[in-house]
Amino acid sequence: MENPSQLRERTIGAFIQQYPKIPCVIPSSPEYAALRATFIIDNPAVPIAIVRPQNADDVSTIVSFCVDHEIPFVVRSGGNNLFGKSQVHDALTIDMRDIKYCRVDYSKRFAEIGGGILAGKLVEDLSNAGVMTASGTVDFIGYVGWSTYGGYGPFSGNFGYGFEQILGAKVVNWKGEILDADLELLKGIRGAGGSFGIIVEMTIKVYPLTKILTGIMLYDASDVEATVVNYCQGLQKLRDEGFPRQLCVAPLFLHTGDGLKLASHFMWSDDDDTAGFKWLEKVSKLGKVLYNPVRKTTVLDGMSDFKTIIPPDGRASVNTVSLRALTKEVTAVMAKYVQRMPRYAGNGFAIHLGPKPSDSSLKNSVFGATESHLMLELLATPRSEEGVEESRKWGAEFLRGLLETNPKNILPTTYINLTPPGRTTLDQIYGANFSFVMALKRKYDPKDVLRLAVPFSYIAATDVQDTREGSHL
Ligand SMILES: Cc1cc2nc3c(=O)[nH]c(=O)nc-3n(C[C@H](O)[C@H](O)[C@H](O)COP(=O)(O)OP(=O)(O)OC[C@H]3O[C@@H](n4cnc5c(N)ncnc54)[C@H](O)[C@@H]3O)c2cc1C
Repeated sequence: MENPSQLRERTIGAFIQQYPKIPCVIPSSPEYAALRATFIIDNPAVPIAIVRPQNADDVSTIVSFCVDHEIPFVVRSGGNNLFGKSQVHDALTIDMRDIKYCRVDYSKRFAEIGGGILAGKLVEDLSNAGVMTASGTVDFIGYVGWSTYGGYGPFSGNFGYGFEQILGAKVVNWKGEILDADLELLKGIRGAGGSFGIIVEMTIKVYPLTKILTGIMLYDASDVEATVVNYCQGLQKLRDEGFPRQLCVAPLFLHTGDGLKLASHFMWSDDDDTAGFKWLEKVSKLGKVLYNPVRKTTVLDGMSDFKTIIPPDGRASVNTVSLRALTKEVTAVMAKYVQRMPRYAGNGFAIHLGPKPSDSSLKNSVFGATESHLMLELLATPRSEEGVEESRKWGAEFLRGLLETNPKNILPTTYINLTPPGRTTLDQIYGANFSFVMALKRKYDPKDVLRLAVPFSYIAATDVQDTREGSHL
């Protein structure tokens, strides 16, 4: 008698025979381990197979097969979901990374991109065409996974968040149909990403800017408390005085194995260098600068700076809080916990500036942060196994300390891509758009075929049992 796992294995064997042109690897294949690898290295999940569609038709074939044979599937691009949710035990992984084209329109105002393209390739292809778009900092992040759930990055002030770049999308729905997203579906995709179907293509905005002032500055962090307090209060003062939209300042307090570092990304995304250098002077006064590599260079070269600072993997326990301001009260909590950060390489604490999205972006998306804020990233992500428990405890205490500060300063929403299971609920995250998201989910996924998609796979809709018909709790 076959158990369910054996039945799935046999069914996948049948898929491979029926569709030999769609690459598919099983756990015994030599390429399996490399294809399965994700940012989170301690995820024990063994997917039943990893299938690599080459185009939208392949995705449609795979979805129809999975539905017909009741095979659960998960979609992955960069594999950077911080809670290991893009590899699920005994499910089929649909690896989108071979759908990675980038076609810039002759008007040079928009580009069509494949649903599995990674940020590094996108930036490179756009650079070759003389344009750029808003992207994150790290080249191995999938553009769909980054942008559709929010997409914070150094261009957020000047060009908007990732979700604000999305002009159109082609989606494979649960029936295997390839749809051009209408305005209603696009609104849901801008904030709730792959909840409604597999995104095989997006049309995004592009811009003529190709050169920026950029660099990762290092500040002296030998007196941790004074460094955090002076830097954060100085940053808040600059915000209060009026931060230009072209400016990005993003601090990362990081353990590198060689002590605690304050690495702060400076970027000025405008051709007016004189104004940029004036801001660099002001930002240099946030602490004692040890190293200042800021120079005028290409967006692609600027992205490569992060290879030296961002670890390629981690053992996760990530959390997040979004604040209205860096008050004295929260700065004191940050100083206390940055000082207590366990000394394992990979642990860190980052602050991202979150500007208010434009009114039209807010109307046409479900993104939850509707006002200017600071998104904090608590990275209890040691690379070594021995640091896991201590780091996890530190992350939990740091979070508690922040949540005990003045509640009026804390946004009810949190950034989905950094929100762990059990932390909050979708009604908190989506706020006024929660009912819209739930109705769209029921409309586009009535049989819960996409149950393993972020965020529905691990964030509950509400904190009470949802008994409405079609609920996904
Ligand atoms: C080192 C590191 C740095 C980061 N820096 C930033 C940052 O600067 N700013 C920021 O905002 N976030 C950042 N993040 C978070 C990152 O944006 C999210 O984890 C994002 O979802 C990763 O996308 P991915 O494709 O790489 O990951 P995956 O794990 O492959 O995808 C995550 C989920 O997105 C969905 N998905 C992906 N592709 C598709 C598709 N084509 N169709 C439908 N659904 C899809 C699936 O549900 C999938 O499980 C960072 C994460 C890491 C690990």
